[in-house]
Amino acid sequence: MRSDKRKRQEYIIKSVDTHKNLILEAERWLWFHPQTGYTEWEAHEYLRKHFEAWGYSLTLSGNIPGFYTDIDTKRPGPKVCIMAELDALELPKHPQAQKGVIHACGHHAQGAALLGVAAALKEPGALDGLCGSIRLMAVPAEEVIQLAFREELRRKGVIRYTEGKVEYLSRGYFDDVDMAVMVHGHMNSEEDAFDFVGNAGNNGCIAKEIIYRGKAAHAGGAPHEGVNAQYAAMLGLQACNDLRETFQEKDAIRFHPVMQGANCAVNIIPEELRIESYVRGKNLEAMKRENRKINRALTGGALAMGAGVEICDRPGCAPEYHDAEFLKLIEQCCIDLSGREKVNFDYNKWIASSSDFGDITCVMPGVQFYVAGASGTVHGVDYCVTNPERVCLNAAKALLFVVLELLSEEGMKAKKILEQYEPLYPSIQAYLEAINEVILDKNAVIYDENGNAKIDYM
Ligand SMILES: [Zn+2]
Ligand SMILES: [Zn+2]
Repeated sequence: MRSDKRKRQEYIIKSVDTHKNLILEAERWLWFHPQTGYTEWEAHEYLRKHFEAWGYSLTLSGNIPGFYTDIDTKRPGPKVCIMAELDALELPKHPQAQKGVIHACGHHAQGAALLGVAAALKEPGALDGLCGSIRLMAVPAEEVIQLAFREELRRKGVIRYTEGKVEYLSRGYFDDVDMAVMVHGHMNSEEDAFDFVGNAGNNGCIAKEIIYRGKAAHAGGAPHEGVNAQYAAMLGLQACNDLRETFQEKDAIRFHPVMQGANCAVNIIPEELRIESYVRGKNLEAMKRENRKINRALTGGALAMGAGVEICDRPGCAPEYHDAEFLKLIEQCCIDLSGREKVNFDYNKWIASSSDFGDITCVMPGVQFYVAGASGTVHGVDYCVTNPERVCLNAAKALLFVVLELLSEEGMKAKKILEQYEPLYPSIQAYLEAINEVILDKNAVIYDENGNAKIDYM
C-alpha cells in the first residue's frame, strides 16, 4: 500500500515537472500583468485560454473575473476545491510595478501553480484510483483594497461583497463543495528555510470607509467660515489610538487607518477627508464589539469640530480557522514531498493578517498553507519571487499530493475530516446572514438648526 502511494506521488512529481516550462512561463506572464481585485481580466483571460486549450470546460463568473471547472472521477466521493487568487496590489514605488500595480503578495504564483495542477491532471492515469471530484477555481479580489470602487460595484449590483471568495459563496459556487485548500506564498522571510509552513489560522476583518465632511473656506482670510475635515479626522484617529490599550490580547485586534488625502489646495480649509481601514480580530463578536468603540471615537472627532462623518462598514473576511485534522494530512503531504526538515507546521500559531479564505473555513473544512520561494517584504517594495520553481512547482505538487491523499481509498481520509468538522455556521446562508449584520451606513453626526447634534454610530 505504502509503496503504491509512493509510486503515485512520484508520478505526480513527474507529471508536474513535464509541464515545468508552461508553469514558469505563466508565473512570469502573470507577474508582469498585475491588476487589482475585480479588474483582473488579463490574468483571467490568460488562464482561461490555457485551461480551455487543455480541454477543460469552464463556468465563468461572467461580470467579474474568475472561473471554475470540475474534474469528475466518475466515482462517488467528496468534492475538493483548489483555489488560486488572481489579484494584485497598488504599490507604485515597487520597481517592477505595472501602472502602479504589482503582485507584492505573490498571487500570480498561485495562478501558475493551478495551471500546473490542471495540466498534471490531464496526464494519462492521473485520476486512476481516485473518487469524487476536484474543482479548480480562479477567484478574484482577495486583497481588501479600493473600498470606494468596490462599493460602487456593489451599488451597481455587479457584486454583493467586497471580497471574491464570499462573493463566490453567495453566488452558489461552493454549494456542492465539501472541502477547500489553497497555497499562498510565505508571509515572512524568517521562514525561508522551510519549503512549507502551516499554522492554526488568521484574523478576520471588517472593512471600513470613513468620510469626514467639513466646509471649505479661505485658509488665510476666512478660516472661521470653514470646518476643517482633516482636523476632525485627526481627532477621531487620535481617540481610536487611545482606545488601543482597551483591546485585549486574546482578540488580536488590529486597526490600521490610512488617510486617502484631503484633495484640496494648501490655501483651502479641507472640506473632505476620506479614510480606509479595517478592524481585524480573531472572532466576529470581538471584531463587532471593538468596531463599535472605534465608530464612537470617530464620531467624537467629528463632533468636536462641528464636522460630519459618514461611516460605511462592510464584511471584509471572516477569521480563518484551519481544520486541525485536515492540516495534519497536508503536513504529511508536504513532508512526503520535501522531507521533515523542510516543513514547519505550528498548530498554535495565529497570524494577525486576514484572508477571505476565512469565509470558506466558516462553512467547510479548509486549509491555506504557505510555500517558500519569494524574498523581501510581503506587501512591500522589495517583494519578488526569487525562485519560481520552488514556489510554483512545489505548490502544484503538494496540492496534487493532497488530492491523492483525500480522494484515494474511497475518499476515506476526506470522509474522516468531514465527519469530525464542526462548522461555525450551519449553512452558507446562515453565514451570509451573520456577516450581513456588519453592514452599516451612517451619517453619524447630524446637527439641528441651533447647532445641537444628534449622534448615531450604531
Ligand atoms: Zn496580501
Ligand atoms: Zn495574499
